[in-house]
Amino acid sequence: MSKTAQSVWDNCLKFIKDNIQPQAYKTWFEPIVAVKLTDKALSIQVPSKFFYEWLEEHYVKILKVALTKELGEHAKLVYIIKMENTYGNKQPFTEKIPSSNRTAVKSQDVDIPLNNKSPELRNPFVIPGIRNVKVESQLNPNYSFDNFLEGDSNRLARSAGLAVASKPGGTSFNPLLIFGGVGLGKTHLAHAIGVDIKDKYPEKTVLYISAEKFTQQYIDAVKKNNRNDFIHFYQIIDVLIIDDVQFLSGKTGTQDVFFHIFNHLHQNGKQVVLTSDKAPVDMQDIEQRLLSRFKWGLSAELQTPDFETRVSILKNKLYRDGVEMPEEIVEYVAKNIKSNVRELEGAIISLIAQSSFNKKEITLDLARIIVEKFVKNTKREVSIDYIQKVVSDYFQMDIDTLQSKTRKRHIVQARQLAMFFAKKFTKASLASIGSQIGKRDHATVLHACKTVDNLSSTDKQFRKYVEDITKKLSV
Ligand code: ADP
Ligand code: MG
Repeated sequence: MSKTAQSVWDNCLKFIKDNIQPQAYKTWFEPIVAVKLTDKALSIQVPSKFFYEWLEEHYVKILKVALTKELGEHAKLVYIIKMENTYGNKQPFTEKIPSSNRTAVKSQDVDIPLNNKSPELRNPFVIPGIRNVKVESQLNPNYSFDNFLEGDSNRLARSAGLAVASKPGGTSFNPLLIFGGVGLGKTHLAHAIGVDIKDKYPEKTVLYISAEKFTQQYIDAVKKNNRNDFIHFYQIIDVLIIDDVQFLSGKTGTQDVFFHIFNHLHQNGKQVVLTSDKAPVDMQDIEQRLLSRFKWGLSAELQTPDFETRVSILKNKLYRDGVEMPEEIVEYVAKNIKSNVRELEGAIISLIAQSSFNKKEITLDLARIIVEKFVKNTKREVSIDYIQKVVSDYFQMDIDTLQSKTRKRHIVQARQLAMFFAKKFTKASLASIGSQIGKRDHATVLHACKTVDNLSSTDKQFRKYVEDITKKLSV
């Protein structure tokens, strides 16, 4: 039977799989595609230059052994790097790396160029020119576990955070993904984990960073041709905390680099903590392979706190600020501001401020006025997800149906209504509305808005739909 690239590679894989960690195998060997076999050379395609460097640095020996077993001692391995997708260019193209860079798995001992890269570690937090390898944690010491009050709404996330903090990288909560709506304490908890780890393990390198800043640093690194330094910097972190990962959606380049950093850290037993405003299943425009990584550890939700928890959060805040306030006022505020902790704190701060500026006593009446203002001003912005849910509930269909490609009239109408309300009630662009409601383009959304306008002025039944849904969205 004659050998093919596939059969040779399959045999190599069998051998490699038996000899390395399953996680490493999954990360570094499963993505490889065997492309060509000529005489004694096997060509394999790898997803990026980074990937190739990594194989060279860590797995060249085992590759050599495996391939020699298959093709004899003159075996050669050729890498083909599938270039990363660039924005606007969906068609990936392949490129052969210059022959001088090809690895010859020929002589008995291949000289592995270890430690020849990145002689100086560039730290993206540091202004160029100033050498500083020490990593500042960027943690806010005011956010601790002590002042993160426990309640039913956050018990799982809080205890998982504590577990991670006492054994970073040593629990199955890796990554720990904390998700929930705005103002529910994601950032606070993320810092608390980092602060606690720094406290218990001062020698560990902990880094807190928002996904937004991470993206910016990455863009800068690419501009300055420092992509590898960027990666290396992040690979030396022991505990990496990335806040608001939903920000990475649609940013394929940053997702790609994060994927590699994540794999490296995870594989080396380092801890990753992530926060997001939604659960992995609901994340849009995040690559599947990254989403599947997010689900490896634990996803813990922060929910809106119940009344008792709201009261204790308020009391704790007042206590820390050294302010006294009658019980009934605290309860009044906690009863009326329910959506999130940030608003709760905001209301109590304005209450304190009002009373001290105007030298007024804090009374229930003053509390009423302020809470009322607060609830009005911070009327929550509805999300596109929520709009789709309300519209599909109203028409008794599920969201998948609403988003489907079907041309059935009542489904098309429901979809158009969802687009119309998304335009009316959110600040999202037409393109973004389209991509979230069944992956349509901006022209489709524009057309939907016009159709709904027209129909509401000509069709009585349709006008009723619009009114009903408006009411549902306004409560
Ligand atoms: P998110 O990142 O989810 O939008 P934050 O972490 O910024 O929310 O929290 C908003 C505010 O609410 C912060 O001041 C935080 O300290 C406070 N907070 C949230 N949850 C709690 C809690 N369980 N106990 C005490 N304060 C909390
Ligand atoms: Mg936050």
